[in-house]
Amino acid sequence: MYADVSLPIPLDQVFTYRLPQTLWHRAQAGCRLIVPFGIRKLTGVVVEVHNRQPEGPTREALRLLDEQPALEAHLLELGKWIANYYCAPLGEVLRGMTPLAGEIRNTKIYSLTDSGRDATRQLLLGEDSDDPGVQLLRMLDSRPLSAAYLKKKILNATAVLKSLEKRRFVHAEDVQADRDPLRASADRLLVEHTARPEGVKLKKSERELVSFLELHPGSHKLSEVDALIRGASEAARSLARRKLVSLKVEPVSAMPHPFKPPPVLNAAQQVAFDRIQASIRSQQFEAFLLHGVTGSGKTEVYLRAIEAAIAMGRNALLLVPEIALTPAMAGQFYHRFGDAVAILHSAFHDSERAEQWRRIRSGAARVVVGTRSGVFAPVQNLGLIVVDEEHDQSYKQQETPRYNGRDVAIVRAHAAGACVVLGSATPSLESRHNVEREKYKFLELPERIAERPMPVVELIDMRTEFLETHKHATFSRALIDAIQQRLGLGEQVMLLHNRRGFSSFVACRACGERMECINCAVTMTYHRRDRRMLCHYCNYAAKIPSKCPKCDSEHIAFLGVGSERVEEDLHQLFPTARIARLDRDTVTGKRDFEIILHGFRERDFDILVGTQMIAKGHDIPNVTLVGVVSGDVGLGMPDFRAAERTFQLLTQVAGRAGRGHIPGKVLVQTINPDHYAVRFAAAQDFIGFYNKELQFRKLMRYPPFSALANVLVRSEKQEDAQRIAAEIGFLLDPPPENLKVLGPAEAPVPRLKNEFRYQLLIKAANRTTLNQTLRNLRLTAIERKWPATALVIDVDPLSLL
Ligand code: ADP
Ligand code: ZN
Ligand code: ZN
Repeated sequence: MYADVSLPIPLDQVFTYRLPQTLWHRAQAGCRLIVPFGIRKLTGVVVEVHNRQPEGPTREALRLLDEQPALEAHLLELGKWIANYYCAPLGEVLRGMTPLAGEIRNTKIYSLTDSGRDATRQLLLGEDSDDPGVQLLRMLDSRPLSAAYLKKKILNATAVLKSLEKRRFVHAEDVQADRDPLRASADRLLVEHTARPEGVKLKKSERELVSFLELHPGSHKLSEVDALIRGASEAARSLARRKLVSLKVEPVSAMPHPFKPPPVLNAAQQVAFDRIQASIRSQQFEAFLLHGVTGSGKTEVYLRAIEAAIAMGRNALLLVPEIALTPAMAGQFYHRFGDAVAILHSAFHDSERAEQWRRIRSGAARVVVGTRSGVFAPVQNLGLIVVDEEHDQSYKQQETPRYNGRDVAIVRAHAAGACVVLGSATPSLESRHNVEREKYKFLELPERIAERPMPVVELIDMRTEFLETHKHATFSRALIDAIQQRLGLGEQVMLLHNRRGFSSFVACRACGERMECINCAVTMTYHRRDRRMLCHYCNYAAKIPSKCPKCDSEHIAFLGVGSERVEEDLHQLFPTARIARLDRDTVTGKRDFEIILHGFRERDFDILVGTQMIAKGHDIPNVTLVGVVSGDVGLGMPDFRAAERTFQLLTQVAGRAGRGHIPGKVLVQTINPDHYAVRFAAAQDFIGFYNKELQFRKLMRYPPFSALANVLVRSEKQEDAQRIAAEIGFLLDPPPENLKVLGPAEAPVPRLKNEFRYQLLIKAANRTTLNQTLRNLRLTAIERKWPATALVIDVDPLSLL
């Protein structure tokens, strides 16, 4: 018997291995198998088991990791579709689809049966023996032991165990070994006092921890105790190993979420729900775009649709953008669906994720909530997939395989005969266009819940502001007044500034030199708290030079405003206001995001400043003013989606205002008040923007009017990158019919992480041509032995940087 195995290497082929007889009836398609490859061992996925003798010698497979396929047939098919559509090696796709399965460690635990126990007793009466079988029975007589342990202690343990099992002296139990919870990070662990350690010698930190826990009964977050007692984290782990304190991983649903009974749907919600319900009932694939303005109650429609699917005996999958999957959001689902929910959260500990995966696979969990890779969850009998905020960029994976979770969701739903709902207040142009092309049905929630008005958006022209004040201030007078007023009323304010750090450039006033990263062709950002400059692309950090490296001048200037600076300026302007900041510098741990947001929701802060992180989906009723410090940040990006992104960001952040009883106001500072993206966002006019942007895309043959791929060539050696890019240029010149090629040219970031980058943008009139061209390109890459990392193919790219 042979197995064709797909390996996680950048080659488009499967490899055939001989199966040892022990695996003949166990290895199946979808199981992971460890095989020799060159001098390495690799874990691949079996795509077929057969008895066709291959030509030439074959090597023998080493070890089977799954008794049940980690990827069932339909997911294997989905993997093949992804590999084909995104021109990615199948093995790398499949590896990306099994991360959860990868965390499950199957362990066999052996114990004695009754007859085994009898036999051991008799042996004990008898003489000593060197027989490994006897040794093994004696070891098991004291306690059950894992296969791994026995293998270490006893020669040839596998064979011995097998023969003992046959004679029914021992029996094996498959258990899913949890990874050691002591290895979870401190902010996920709860520590609790168990027993008073008597007669044990303790270190100072251990003594301090024990007395703290004695004084403060109950469980404490280890990270918090760690802040009070030096070395508490270490001490707790060491005490826990000796069972002197207990350490538990905190359940993710611990973040409280106010429980609200399900509301009665309004008319628009009801219409949308009815259509979705009918679609699930039909058991036919159908795709809907649910366009609901901010605050229109889309989530409630999803919840009802999921309930309906469950009532019909089918299961549901909800995908959310990365940042949206917070413990609070999870809490909402636990309230509604109780134990039927599985949450695939990156903040989960490995063992918890494995647990969720098993519950989904077994059918115990009927509702799955997850981010991008959740689209591969082993949901059985799928009736509904919901993709929330379908326009969100985090659905696109930025490394191989560069799939878009939203689009994979459509394909998966199609194969499963399920209903798929894409929801957004700012649908992507592609999705909205698919409504016109009658690929998706259209559902609309045109108004906010409870007839709450849409927020009023005002544009503040910062050019006029400068002419009138002669100052380059971060805040206009109007925005300052508005903030002042809201604070006076005890209401809350959100301020968006989509650029982190303190100042975006560090430059010399004398010669104009800008400080650049040594690894990338980008300027360094000044981070004041850390007193250093940071590259936002590769994280390279450097001290602020005291003199200009080019002209020796001491006049170093900090230019361009970042979110850290916005926060600083706010403290100056409003000394008594309580201000929090939400950006990638304040959100470093997995839970910081939720903690800051939770604090804001609980009114611990008056003002929340942040990057785009603050714009997404949060529902905080007391926010009545949203300010945008610069509406222009995204407009200058060398990317045809710059306008769409700006429109989405401004519309989404504006939508955070006035979600409670008090109407909201939005002030957008800009130097481009006439730009259509800014204007339509201010008018909250999606269709206006859509029509205008569509014209531009049509004229320029950009998606949705073409199939696009970005071909990036990168190398540490500039000549190599240049040469390969040029070779590709030749191959595509003249371009195949129905194809247009832009480049090769330097990439917008010509050097990144020490690699030189060139790119070609390929626009094709149809998918087949595009796919064929890219496929040929990959073959050429293999023929000409280009380094495996040199060529990056991004189909349907979302970012051209
Ligand atoms: P969206 O996601 O469309 O921006 P949400 O789903 O966050 O809007 O809904 C906004 C608020 O309205 C939430 O607090 C939600 O609980 C509430 N809500 C939703 N539907 C109804 C309804 N039919 N009646 C009353 N409140 C509702
Ligand atoms: Zn200088
Ligand atoms: Zn860099």
